[in-house]
Amino acid sequence: MQHESPPRAWVDVDLEAIAHNLDIARQALPDTQLMPVVKAGAYGHGLEQVARRLDKDGITFFGVANAGEARRLSQAGIRTKPFILGPTFPEEREEIVLNNWCATVSTVEEAQHFQSLAALYDKTFLVHLALDTGMGREGVLPSEMSGMIAALKQMPNVVVDGAMSHFPCADEDVPYTQDEITLFSDCVAELKQHFRLRFCHIAASAGELGYEIPAANLARPGLLLYGVAPMASIYDGVLRPTLKLSSRVSLVRTLPAGHGVSYGRTYCTTEPTRVATIGIGYADGWNRHLSGKGARVYINGHYCPMLGRVTMDQIMADVSHVPFIAPGDEVELIGPNIPVTEIARLAETIVWEIFTGLGPRLPRLYH
Ligand SMILES: *Cc1c(COP(=O)(O)O)cnc(C)c1O
Repeated sequence: MQHESPPRAWVDVDLEAIAHNLDIARQALPDTQLMPVVKAGAYGHGLEQVARRLDKDGITFFGVANAGEARRLSQAGIRTKPFILGPTFPEEREEIVLNNWCATVSTVEEAQHFQSLAALYDKTFLVHLALDTGMGREGVLPSEMSGMIAALKQMPNVVVDGAMSHFPCADEDVPYTQDEITLFSDCVAELKQHFRLRFCHIAASAGELGYEIPAANLARPGLLLYGVAPMASIYDGVLRPTLKLSSRVSLVRTLPAGHGVSYGRTYCTTEPTRVATIGIGYADGWNRHLSGKGARVYINGHYCPMLGRVTMDQIMADVSHVPFIAPGDEVELIGPNIPVTEIARLAETIVWEIFTGLGPRLPRLYH
């Protein structure tokens, strides 16, 4: 009989915390429908597991990145409709139409492709018209909207069921975002003269937390569900952290003064130092940019500075001040004592990248 060795590093996921954070979003926006965003494996938390937990709660769509993620949701028996957030590729569209998944269109060409597929299968296909109110990633420009409206009206099998946009700097530039809300409202008002829009949406977590958006009746929270508010807000302390990243000590040794630690010898001991080797590295998503930035890990009740560069599968930490430590001891890398926001700041990136960078080698454990 084969027996599996315990993982060197793993992620504990708290699905109840994610459900709690969705409730917080719902309480904050009682009159707004919700599209929990579960793309990129629910930000590293596990696509099917998170979707299954939230599927019960009467939500409108699940936001996904592509047809493959939509397929995984439907194969997992999820009833909520997937909404493909970005532009679709031509090869994805037949499957999207056949399954009645929801997609955006930015151009006449995309809409025409959906029209011909829907006609081929004798179906009506519901799309959301994407508007580019400033993001520069997808959507029709406001100046080109009337031409798009005219083209869409010639497509009997394509129904414009919604209008969407996306803020580029809701968490950084309030006046710009307020102007964008006005522009979005104007576009929606014009579209409503031509289409029966059931869904209008522009806000992700930051927009949702920071602004009144009377033209919208649907919001797309992502990061918020995973316990982090993108802006300092009343939600800090109300949202619950949703994951813990842990590893284990593999070795504890004492290095003499003047001994280098890790590649490049960027760190050198100045005195005899007890060094723990820990079984996690950048291949797991413990970002290599944390090297030499003052990152710390938490072992047996003590903060321990990480020493030298992050390697592919291992890191080292100074444990000279930890009285009891032995191989096998657990190491907290993200969790109650080390917030993910600290890691993102030290790695000079954003929390979204830390979450989605957690690698496939890390088992996800659900409680
Ligand atoms: C990823 C994404 C979201 C969710 O963003 P958060 O900032 O994580 O809340 C919402 N809308 C679109 C279009 C996205 O691509």
